Amino acid sequence: MAHDTLTNAQMRDIEALVHPYTHAASLRQTGAHMIASGEGIYVTDEAGRRYVEGLAGLWCCGLGFGDAELVEAAQAQFSRLPYYHLFGGRTHEPAIELAEKLKELLPMEAARIFYGCSGSEANDSQIKLIWYMNNVLGRPEKKKILSRKRGYHGVTLATASLTGLPLNHEDFDLPLEFVRHLRCPHHWKEAEPGETEAEFSARLAAELEETILAEGPETVAAFIAEPVMGAGGVIVPPEGYFPAMQAVLRKYDVQMVADEVICGFGRTANWFGSETFSIAPNSMSMAKQLTGGYFPLSAVAMDRRMAEAVEEGASRNPALGHGFTYGGHPAGCAVALAALAIYERRDIVGHVRRVAPVFQARLRAAADHPLVGEARGAGLMGGLELSPEPGRPAAFAQPGKVGARLMEEMLARGVILRSLGDTLAFCPPMVITEAEIEEMMAPLPEALDATHAWARAEGHL
Ligand code: PMP
Repeated sequence: MAHDTLTNAQMRDIEALVHPYTHAASLRQTGAHMIASGEGIYVTDEAGRRYVEGLAGLWCCGLGFGDAELVEAAQAQFSRLPYYHLFGGRTHEPAIELAEKLKELLPMEAARIFYGCSGSEANDSQIKLIWYMNNVLGRPEKKKILSRKRGYHGVTLATASLTGLPLNHEDFDLPLEFVRHLRCPHHWKEAEPGETEAEFSARLAAELEETILAEGPETVAAFIAEPVMGAGGVIVPPEGYFPAMQAVLRKYDVQMVADEVICGFGRTANWFGSETFSIAPNSMSMAKQLTGGYFPLSAVAMDRRMAEAVEEGASRNPALGHGFTYGGHPAGCAVALAALAIYERRDIVGHVRRVAPVFQARLRAAADHPLVGEARGAGLMGGLELSPEPGRPAAFAQPGKVGARLMEEMLARGVILRSLGDTLAFCPPMVITEAEIEEMMAPLPEALDATHAWARAEGHL
């Protein structure tokens, strides 16, 4: 039964919607938090309270919430051509222009772009097109995809299988059989005592090789990874990780797929996370900040070999049997072009380089708090992992509860964040100023103290 203090709209919400990533019984008690409007790095709820949006929505609103240029780009395109598709040889100017622009910007020799609407669709397309490629290349057994524990790649049957989080598998009968999950590259948690980051990276690369050999290199098609793991807890790779992993991948002709859905377009203080962490991808997935979150659009960039194999397959068969009704939507492409123009004109990468150290320093200052295990991050992404043992990796008896409480304490102090288990994630709009970073981080010490007191009183410590 719903609580009697819920507003009418909250009651209607509960009776009308299924909420993603929400504890349903708790929602009946609290009601949903209704957001009414947004401007800059702030959103305002129906009660008129204004918040710093510390996660840029879902890691996507890099330009904040009231960018008139993005709105105008969508409006102009809606007036000219509100919908068209790319099936059966049709095309439109925004789709072509955006693909050309991406090819110019990407840190790989991208030969072709394929559009979807979401990060899940991009990664699902990666799997399908890599399988398709390997069929064309006459190696139909090369189909397994390597992913990592705590990686996040989406929620479709195939991409939820790539995702390495129990919540996305349990009760969904997943993962599907084609995936193997490698060790999470989290030095703080997974390294042996005294093992340096470089040694840890070498060990992970050796484990990768063991896995490929055990499976049979002729059966392993690709390795997919986020440059910085986002939804798995903001996990930054250890020193030398990707070059060590890629040396092994090259040896066995295993394709490197960079999932840039969060890291793309400036988030890690380079245009792409692949640049920050020395990844040389064969294909890349992009979404989220591609349109500043204002329109659902995703893109897969593929290297020449993949593009040529797809073209060959689509010439052998009557057609490429893959594509989405709204993939490459003209309004989405127009918004993406406007977003990319803003990133360039306002030098968003330069801005992130200037302000990220301020953010990272503020985050790391919290590492001394007795409730904090590790403060970590890159660029304008950060994670604050709580632990019952100060500074050391350890699990709370009831995982997720203390992290959720810290998120609530920050919300009560005007900052919207997201707890991922017992890690509090930060990913503010990239346009955030130094003063606004200060505003976002200022409540943290008090929120940590309040959470600490609560955790003690409730027996979590
Ligand atoms: N890949 C990564 C790295 C993501 O962070 C996400 C979403 N958080 C996805 C894929 C899936 O994107 P979507 O929710 O748009 O399907």
